[in-house]
Amino acid sequence: LAKRSGRNNFRYYSKDLTASAKERLTLESELRRAAERMELELHYQPKVSLSDGMMIGSEALLRWCHPRLGMVPPTQFIQIAEDTGLIVDLGQWVLREACRMAAKWNAEGKPPHKVAINLSAKQFQSQNLAGAVADILNDTDCRPEWIELEITESLLLDDNGKTLDTLSAFRSMGVSIAIDDFGTGYSALSYLTRFPIDTLKIDRSFIQSVITDHYGAELVKAILSIARSLGQEVVAEGVETVEQAAFLAAHGCQLAQGFLYSKPLPEAELASLPQHFHVSHSAAMMAKPEC
Ligand code: C2E
Ligand code: MG
Ligand code: MG
Ligand code: MG
Repeated sequence: LAKRSGRNNFRYYSKDLTASAKERLTLESELRRAAERMELELHYQPKVSLSDGMMIGSEALLRWCHPRLGMVPPTQFIQIAEDTGLIVDLGQWVLREACRMAAKWNAEGKPPHKVAINLSAKQFQSQNLAGAVADILNDTDCRPEWIELEITESLLLDDNGKTLDTLSAFRSMGVSIAIDDFGTGYSALSYLTRFPIDTLKIDRSFIQSVITDHYGAELVKAILSIARSLGQEVVAEGVETVEQAAFLAAHGCQLAQGFLYSKPLPEAELASLPQHFHVSHSAAMMAKPEC
C-alpha cells in the first residue's frame, strides 16, 4: 500500500513539474514578443528625502501586462529572462524607456529627479554596456546625472575582471551606481572600497526589523555609519511605517523608498503626485522611545 501511494505521489509530482515546465516555456516565448506587443511598462516608485519629505527621484520597476495572466510580477519573469539571455534586449528597452522618462521629467523645469534603473548581472556583463548606455543617454537627451544604475552585491562578489572597468567607465561618464538589496549577498565589505560605489540601498528585510528588534536596529545603525565614513549615500528600501522613517531620519539616513510614501506608479500618476510628502517624524519619535 505504501508503495502504491508512493508511486502515486511520484506521478502527481512529475505531472506537476511537467505543467510548470510547460508554463515556463509558454512564458518564455511570450516574453520574447512582449516588448513588440507593447505589453511591457515601467512603473516608478518615489524616492524621498528623509530630512524634508521632498521627492528627489524614483526607481523604475518593470511590469508585464500579460493578456491572459494579467500583471505578471518581475520576480516571476526576470529569472526566465536571465536564463534565456532575453534580459539583454529587455534591459536595453528598460534603459531607453527610463532615460526617456528622466529626460522628460527633468526638462519640464521641475525640481531635479533622478531615475534609478535596475540592471541584472547578465546585462551588466554583456558586451560594452557602458557604450550602450552612453548611446541611449545621447539618443534620449538624458544627462548622466539624471539616472542611477542599481546592481547587486553578488555581481561584485563574482567579479570577472571586467567589473572594475565597467564601473569606472560609469564613474567617468557621471552615471552613479547603487548597490541594491545591500546586506543580503554575503557582503564581503572590502568591495565597498574596491569599487566606485555611490549609493547603498539597505534591503527591506533590515528596515522591517529596526523598530521590533534591537539587533536589527544596531545593524542598520552600523551600515549607516560605514556608509557615512565612506561617503556613500544611503537609501532605505521598503519603508512602511512612520516609526521606521523616524528611526532612519534620526540616524542620518538620507533617503527612503516604500509603501509609506507610495507604491510604484505609472508615469502619469507619478507626475500628478505632490512633490512633497508630509510625514511627521517628530511626532513618531515622541511616541516611540529610541532604540
Ligand atoms: P528591487 O529592485 O529591490 O525593487 C524593490 C521591490 O520592493 C519592488 O518590487 C517594489 O515594488 C517593492 N517594494 C517597494 N516598497 C515596498 C514596501 O514598502 N513594502 C514591500 N513589501 N515591498 C516594497 P517589484 O517591483 O516586484 O520588483 C522586484 C524585483 O524585480 C526588484 O527588486 C528587482 O530586483 C527586479 N526588477 C524590477 N524591475 C526590473 C528591471 O527593469 N530590470 C531588472 N534587471 N530587474 C528588475
Ligand atoms: Mg532596485
Ligand atoms: Mg532593492
Ligand atoms: Mg529588494
